[in-house]
Amino acid sequence: MRAPESRGATVPAAAATPASVTAPPSFAARATSVEGSPVREILALTQRPGVISFAGGLPAPELFDTEGLRAAYDAAFATSARRALQYSTTDGDPELRAAVAARATARGLATDADDVLITSGSQQALTLITAALVEPGDVVLVENPTYLAALQCFGLAGARVVPVPCDEEGIVPEALADLVGQERPKLLYTIPTFQNPTGRTLPAGRRAAVAEIAARMGLWLVEDDPYGDLRYEGADVPWLAAHPGAEDRTALLGSFSKIMAPGLRLGWLRAPAALRRAAVVAKQAADLHTSTVDQLAAARYFAAVDLDAHIATVRTAYRARRDALLAGLGDALPAGSSWNRPEGGMFVWARLPEFHDAAALLRAAISRQVAFVPGAPFFTGSPDPRTLRLSFSTHTPQEIAEGVSRLGAALADHGLRTG
Ligand code: PMP
Repeated sequence: MRAPESRGATVPAAAATPASVTAPPSFAARATSVEGSPVREILALTQRPGVISFAGGLPAPELFDTEGLRAAYDAAFATSARRALQYSTTDGDPELRAAVAARATARGLATDADDVLITSGSQQALTLITAALVEPGDVVLVENPTYLAALQCFGLAGARVVPVPCDEEGIVPEALADLVGQERPKLLYTIPTFQNPTGRTLPAGRRAAVAEIAARMGLWLVEDDPYGDLRYEGADVPWLAAHPGAEDRTALLGSFSKIMAPGLRLGWLRAPAALRRAAVVAKQAADLHTSTVDQLAAARYFAAVDLDAHIATVRTAYRARRDALLAGLGDALPAGSSWNRPEGGMFVWARLPEFHDAAALLRAAISRQVAFVPGAPFFTGSPDPRTLRLSFSTHTPQEIAEGVSRLGAALADHGLRTG
C-alpha cells in the first residue's frame, strides 16, 4: 500500500464509495525522517541457507532452555491459569519484579521490587524513558558507534543525537564533559558493558568519571545492559548506576533476551521513583502492561531453575565461539587490519586497512556464503567505512572457522587480502 503523499488528491470512485474521495492527511514527519534499519535488511540477505553469518545479533537457539521454559509455562497454567490470562498491572508481576530486584542486588546494586518496571523487551524500556524525558530538539548524547534501534528511538522522538568521542575503551570522559558544557544535553545513552556494536567495556574508572560528570553538570544517564551476564573472562565491572553521583539519575535497562530467550519479549527498567512513574504512564499508553502469561512463566522459571547454571552453559559455548573467531581473523583479514578481544557479549569489532570499504567486502563475502555487518550504519555523523561487526553467537566453532576462511577467500577475490 502506498503512503498518502498530500491532502486533497482524488481517486476514482468505486461502485460503493462516494462520488469523490479525499486522501487522508500525510504521515507525521517523524515516520518518514527515520529510516528502517539497514542491519535488518542485511539480515534478510544472510538468512539464506548455507550462509555462515556473523551478521546477526541473535542468541543461539540450540542453547535456549526449551524444556525448562515449557515446564515454566505449564506451571503458570497449572497453578494460575486465570491470572495468567487476565489483564494485569502496568508495573509487572510482583514475583518477577522481586526476582529481578534480587539479581540486581546480588550484582551490587541494592534494588527493591518497587524500583523495577517490567517491560516488553528492554527495547520498550528505551522507548518509555525517551517518552518520559525527550522533547523534540533536545540533545541526546550517544557513543559512536552505537546500537541502531536506539538511534531510531531517539530519532522518532525528534531528538538531536550528538556522538561522544570514544576510543578502544569507550567514552572519553574529558570529551564528554566538554560536550555536556557545549550542548546542554538531556541524557547520555550508553551501553557500557560489551557494547553493541563494538564489544567494548567501559572501565570502572571511566564509569566513575561519567557518573561524576552527570551529577556535577546535570544529566540523565540511560545505561543499557542486555549483555552484562555474558562474561567469558575478567572480573565484572560495577554498573554505571552503582557509582556515586549516578544513583538519582540513571535508568538501568535489563533484558531476558540473552539469558533466557528473546521471543519472550521481556525486559526491565530500574529508575528513580519519579522517572519510573513517568515511564509507567508512558507504558499505559503504549501497551497497558507486558504479557501476563509470559511474565508468570518467567517468574516460575526463576523459581524452578538455577538461572546462573544455565547462563554458565551459555557462557562456555559463547566463549569457545568467540575464541574460534579470534583465532581465525589473523589469517583472514589483510595486514594492517585491527580487531578487539571482547571479554564478553556477542560482538567483535574489526577495522580494515586504509582505503578498504567493508560494504564492498560484504558483497564479495555474500557470494562466498559468509556475511557480517558493515560498521558504517552504527555511526552518528561521519561513519568509518573500514569497520565491521562480527557476531560469533550463532555458529559452532567449526562453522566459525569455516566462515572466517570464506571471509579470507572473499577478501582475496576482492583483491583486498595483502597479508
Ligand atoms: N539494547 C541493545 C544494546 C541491544 O543490542 C538490544 C538487542 N539486540 C536491545 C537493547 C533490545 O533487547 P530486547 O530484546 O531486550 O528488547
